[in-house]
Amino acid sequence: MSALTIQFHRGGVHLPQLGLWLDPHHRVAGPELAFVSHAHSDHTGAHREVILSAPTAHLMMARIGGQRVENILPFGEPREFAGGKIPFRLTLLPAGHILGSAMAFIETGGGTLLYTGDFKLRPGLAAEICEPRRADLLIMETTFGRPAYEFPPAEAVLREIVKFCRSALEQDETPVLFSYSLGKSQELLAGLGDAGLPLAVHESVETMTKIYEYFGRRFPKYERHDPAAVRGKVLICPPNTNAAAALRKQGNIRTAVVTGWALDRGCRFRYQVEAAFPLSDHAGFSDLIEMVKRVAPRKVFTLHGFAADFAQSVRELGFDAQALSEPEQFVLPFAGK
Ligand SMILES: [Zn+2]
Repeated sequence: MSALTIQFHRGGVHLPQLGLWLDPHHRVAGPELAFVSHAHSDHTGAHREVILSAPTAHLMMARIGGQRVENILPFGEPREFAGGKIPFRLTLLPAGHILGSAMAFIETGGGTLLYTGDFKLRPGLAAEICEPRRADLLIMETTFGRPAYEFPPAEAVLREIVKFCRSALEQDETPVLFSYSLGKSQELLAGLGDAGLPLAVHESVETMTKIYEYFGRRFPKYERHDPAAVRGKVLICPPNTNAAAALRKQGNIRTAVVTGWALDRGCRFRYQVEAAFPLSDHAGFSDLIEMVKRVAPRKVFTLHGFAADFAQSVRELGFDAQALSEPEQFVLPFAGK
């Protein structure tokens, strides 16, 4: 019987015997490795040596620059690592969150662990399809870990967004869709494709979209946002940008935010917008439950968002589950060979 130590530290997960961090927030500069699940800023850092997918490496370079030792793994192909006290095999599995987002499937001689990072089971338009795998331990994100967070079908939400844009354009107002530059904006671009709307994107969205295109994703025609020529266009723009502030000042716009938090009643007011659309790149509550069932683990650790609430829901289903909050350490028996 061997034991695996799991430590939670400043939002990241540390497996000291493996010499491995999972989505650490601080810079991992020493000999240890950092697995980077995807290129959203709360999951990346200027680490010395990383394990990640090829799209994540590209997106990370575009976002934070810098040099690092990269172990770029194709999805589904295990790689051995033996730098720590316990050697292990790590396989990237698609997480379905944004382009290149990966779960880490980790095998030691004593057992298996699946770390999800951010994930989504519902198929997206611009990300790979999520591929869960059975494991002894599951460490999962639970951003939307309360039963109230059930997302309507994306097609229905996109239809509402198209209606919103058409109505604004008919009244000579510019529809502005506030969405994050990486992931959500590309889902929107792909999803609005069939509607034939004239699309313009903020330059940060364009930079990210070009990387999607480099990896073979195709989008409808769009142009880069030109403040002097915004009339008659639908603008996709991250919420906290100078361009967004300038547009708000200029007036004659109709604003909406596109986020999973749109399921909250106060969302419109929080974002100071006229409409909020619940298109999310995260799992909703029932998909979080579905993930637990598909992985069928002996123990679940929950992380981010409503982690404690979700751990309780999982216990009620008969699984051993616990929220990770900091600072915490668990020593878990792995069934030895
Ligand atoms: Zn993310």
